[in-house]
Amino acid sequence: MLKKNDHQTGIFSGSSKLSLTSAVPEELPRGRPQEKCGIFAVYGYRGPENAALVTYLGLLALQHRGQESAGIAFKEEGKIRAIKGMGMVDHVFSRRELSLIEADTVLGHVRYATAGPSIAVNAQPLLALSHDRTGMALAHNGNLTNTRKLHHRLLETGHIFHTTSDTEILLTYLFRFRRLGLVEAARKTMGIVQGAYSAVVLDHDRLVAFRDPNGFRPLVIGRLDGAYILASETAAFDLVGAEVVREVKPGEIISIGPEGLSSAGVQSGGEPSYCIFEYVYFARPDSVIDGSSVHLVRKKVGSLLAGRLSAKLDLVIPSPDSGVSAASGLAEALNLPLEWAIYRNPYLGRTFIKPGQETREMAVRLKFNPVTGLIRGKRVALVDDSLVRGTTARVLTALLRDSGAAEVHLGIASPPYKNPCYYGIDIPVPDELAALDENMDHLTASIGADSITFAEPEDLYEAVGKDRTELCTACFTGLYPTPGR
Ligand code: 5GP
Ligand code: MG
Repeated sequence: MLKKNDHQTGIFSGSSKLSLTSAVPEELPRGRPQEKCGIFAVYGYRGPENAALVTYLGLLALQHRGQESAGIAFKEEGKIRAIKGMGMVDHVFSRRELSLIEADTVLGHVRYATAGPSIAVNAQPLLALSHDRTGMALAHNGNLTNTRKLHHRLLETGHIFHTTSDTEILLTYLFRFRRLGLVEAARKTMGIVQGAYSAVVLDHDRLVAFRDPNGFRPLVIGRLDGAYILASETAAFDLVGAEVVREVKPGEIISIGPEGLSSAGVQSGGEPSYCIFEYVYFARPDSVIDGSSVHLVRKKVGSLLAGRLSAKLDLVIPSPDSGVSAASGLAEALNLPLEWAIYRNPYLGRTFIKPGQETREMAVRLKFNPVTGLIRGKRVALVDDSLVRGTTARVLTALLRDSGAAEVHLGIASPPYKNPCYYGIDIPVPDELAALDENMDHLTASIGADSITFAEPEDLYEAVGKDRTELCTACFTGLYPTPGR
């Protein structure tokens, strides 16, 4: 766990040579909620399925964004209700239960809280209800950075917190301003909270979506059978057969009601800085973010990485499945065979989730098995999207060596991961980050590879087709787009 004062030492220090501004997060007193989540909402759906089932499908497509809890909220006879639970989407909902929901407007969420407590009360959508069960439901993807200050402020005004999630802060302000209408409530709230939020709120007659002025986390508008849809990623639209309309712009408030969809304007407060890690790892490869195919971005980074590798190679092997897109670009650029030489057991969860280094290595070993016949005597490039703790690379390199690889050269399709993220991506505590040691020989030896080659930040900018200033690259560069306090 990140200790409260960690920011006063080491790379958390504002004086770190890489930092432009010190983006020190303010934490809740209990726990450190860091969430990267998925949102799916549908307004006014009158197609062949029911809105709850459509939402269920959308959440299934966004399962990679959060496996800890799932939930939906909807309006029934003027009252807001929710079905939520811990675990995967398929586990939380039953078809029977969903098919009984008549609401044409449903808001859904999958949650991934890696460092904060994994408890049911934090499952979203979060509800704020009046005595007659009217009220609102909120789904949030991101992480606020002025949490501690707002938490204290709300406590002083008599608020009793029911969760340890920063989403409750957002909801509390929205609810306090509800008499102004949801759009104005969102506008007022945006003037108070800082950090990363792509959020959707539902009340008795509308859905309002709002995105922080930096636009850290994605949020897209779509259409399906005359209804409007909002989702974190376009892959969710593909599954339900919806078309993409456009992104919610950074700082924008979108209102969907009986009169249709309208933009309530764009709040200023910062330059857009889309999260680069969505492109590197987090989003599905079949999603399109701001016009760019995630797979093609990763493939392009792989081809640029190819130009940086100097070793003689026989074979390119992706780290499954996260290295596949980059490995295909790298193999194509070097005109080398791409072989699926490491099998990944698809029936296990992601290893990142499990705490403690020993269990993590065991989990990685549980997950992967080599196809020895392909590897023996070969000089291989092992390609992954990122190197965080180094666990995956270490285990896979050892696996390839045990299978008789003559040489193992590691290609990482992103720069060394050096800085914590305060905007909603799970980052280990700083001293667990493998690339903190800038000595490449040490790093290569600690991974056990013959060489390690990282992509440069410029490779990412080129592949994404955005300027550095339009992206949040803090995890790689230490340049934080927002001040901490
Ligand atoms: P490492 O094993 O070096 O700690 O982490 C790098 C590996 O974990 C890569 O294979 C990458 O695909 C994956 N990874 C990177 N970031 C995340 C994350 O936030 N969550 C999960 N589950 N995996 C991640
Ligand atoms: Mg991986």
